[in-house]
Amino acid sequence: QAKAEGRNDYHMFRQEMHDRVERRLKIETALRQAVTRDEFVVFYQPKVDIKSGRIYGLEALIRWMRPGNEIVSPAEFIPLAEETGLIIDIGRYVIETACINRKTINDETGQDLIISINVSGRQLKEPELLKDIKDIVATSGCIPEKMELEITESMLMEDVEATVATLDEIAALGFALSIDDFGTGYSSLAYLKKFPINTLKIDRSFIMDITDDKEDARIVQTIIDMSKNLGLEVVAEGVETIEQSQMLKKAGCTKIQGYLYAKPMPLDELIPFLKNWK
Ligand code: C2E
Ligand code: MG
Ligand code: MG
Ligand code: MG
Repeated sequence: QAKAEGRNDYHMFRQEMHDRVERRLKIETALRQAVTRDEFVVFYQPKVDIKSGRIYGLEALIRWMRPGNEIVSPAEFIPLAEETGLIIDIGRYVIETACINRKTINDETGQDLIISINVSGRQLKEPELLKDIKDIVATSGCIPEKMELEITESMLMEDVEATVATLDEIAALGFALSIDDFGTGYSSLAYLKKFPINTLKIDRSFIMDITDDKEDARIVQTIIDMSKNLGLEVVAEGVETIEQSQMLKKAGCTKIQGYLYAKPMPLDELIPFLKNWK
């Protein structure tokens, strides 16, 4: 009996593995085709300076529009894009699109905004990133001083010397650098000092409960104070309520991004949104 069950478990395990591999292959093929079939769309989420009330920047956030109007979130396909190396082509597309759209936004709204672009670990490790950025700067009429890369804190801690070298070159082109999801990684101040960073973005997980959780509130206050001491800008991500934004303002953080002000949106919604912003 036990032996028969064991065989059954094994069989089910094999079947499950098989299904999983097949599912993965299907998505991988679809993702590969998505690159050539132009199925990616770049959305933009405004960043607000609550002191002046102005929108000062936008974060570029990719979406995969699968045939049949299904929208796939980057959390689902970026890891696979990283594993397969497709992230290089996808990343180039995002940087180029953001540069071109920035000019359109400026022309149509008169607002000269900073656009930040997320870069993942694999992108940062491959030499193509620097080459692609240089090519795009040379050919797209992009203004590097208006561009920013967002890099997660945990990425900085891998292969520090190589990362510093790459980021120094990108910064020398004029790009600003922001540490995304700050507070979730394990970076030390000694390390942070090595990188040409302009901004820390406080991770949404600390903002979420900031009004009820004293410990989260203390962590956020510490990050804000630390940013100031290091001469860095600080941005809070994932702000959803007025109470959270008021608390952040009191704590000294005035740059805010979140559903409270706007969700990420495609260019054709963004332009009227920016025109109507008071
Ligand atoms: P992230 O860079 O930390 O981006 C912030 C995420 O939080 C976005 O999710 C955004 O839509 C979401 N968000 C913003 N405000 C709020 C809020 O008030 N409440 C809630 N619940 N969520 C909010 P999204 O667009 O799904 O992107 C997820 C992650 O995927 C990003 O996290 C980033 O790490 C990655 N990603 C997005 N676009 C790209 C890209 O073009 N290239 C690379 N390499 N990664 C990307
Ligand atoms: Mg980001
Ligand atoms: Mg983030
Ligand atoms: Mg985050």
